[in-house]
Amino acid sequence: MFDKNEQNTRRKFEDPWITENGKRRARVALKSPKILWFNTGTLCNIKCQNCYIKSSPTNNALVYISANEVSEYLDQLVTQKWPVAEIGLTGGEPFMNPEILGIIERCLNRNYVVLILTNAMQPMMRKNIKEGLVKLNKLFPYKIKLRISLDHFKAIQHDTERGLGAFEKTLQGMDWLRDTNISTSVAGRTIWGETELETRAGYSKLFKKRRYAIDANDPTDTILFPEINENIETPEITNDCWNKLEKDPDTVMCSYSRMVVKRNGMKKPVVLACTLITTSSEFELGYTLKEAEVDVSLNHATCSKFCVLGGASCSH
Ligand code: SF4
Ligand code: SF4
Repeated sequence: MFDKNEQNTRRKFEDPWITENGKRRARVALKSPKILWFNTGTLCNIKCQNCYIKSSPTNNALVYISANEVSEYLDQLVTQKWPVAEIGLTGGEPFMNPEILGIIERCLNRNYVVLILTNAMQPMMRKNIKEGLVKLNKLFPYKIKLRISLDHFKAIQHDTERGLGAFEKTLQGMDWLRDTNISTSVAGRTIWGETELETRAGYSKLFKKRRYAIDANDPTDTILFPEINENIETPEITNDCWNKLEKDPDTVMCSYSRMVVKRNGMKKPVVLACTLITTSSEFELGYTLKEAEVDVSLNHATCSKFCVLGGASCSH
């Protein structure tokens, strides 16, 4: 039993082992890693209202990771025998990283599926990137998957988040992806006061009109993310919560993935527990995948709001 006298002095999300009320905090083991993420850098060509990682044209808190650094972790995947099938690339805007094509190619050469989270705007639409993507897609058919951030199926909502004209530019990028047969899915948001049915019907109409091979009713093809509102209070997740909520810890992202990032000013990249918490040192697990094989303590409001109570798995 925990000392009851300690309860009043402890604050929420303070102790990695014990909650404010003296209960054992929920922890998640890395059971069977399926995906390894790389953050390619936080710089982005735009600045969205609610970017969870606060990317912008000036935010370089996470700097561009290099192709050689990525290769070192691909080697470690083999050494550690992680059964990973997919490499995820997120930013910022991954197509701003000057070594992005080399990074994608190195992952493909090792037979991984490469999932890239992008806004499909100007960085992707540059001549050299388009040529590189076409070439790699021919060499490695069905292995490159782009997930496009399209916050809503209407311009007015999307542009409220991303700036005037952003919707049209993203659709131009998606038109190009359609014409080049590069596999595409969409990440939308659920902040518009609509039912899921209404949202999916809206996307379905748009995809049909633009002839996109994306199924608006398939939650793996059209992924709808809840917002992470930092100002809303959320309960801590105790070990008992799994049973009470009938939630399996193996469904939470940190049970099957990790993310490699390179912090500005640091010589080497580090491995984080997941893609969602990038600023807290507590979720930094070490320099190597071996060091990152530890259990993760759900000691952050995002764990509660987004993963356990919100039910989502990833974001861009
Ligand atoms: S949400 Fe995506 S597109 Fe928008 S600023 Fe963040 S990284 Fe860039
Ligand atoms: S935010 Fe989610 S995936 Fe990340 S450590 Fe917390 S529970 Fe795990």
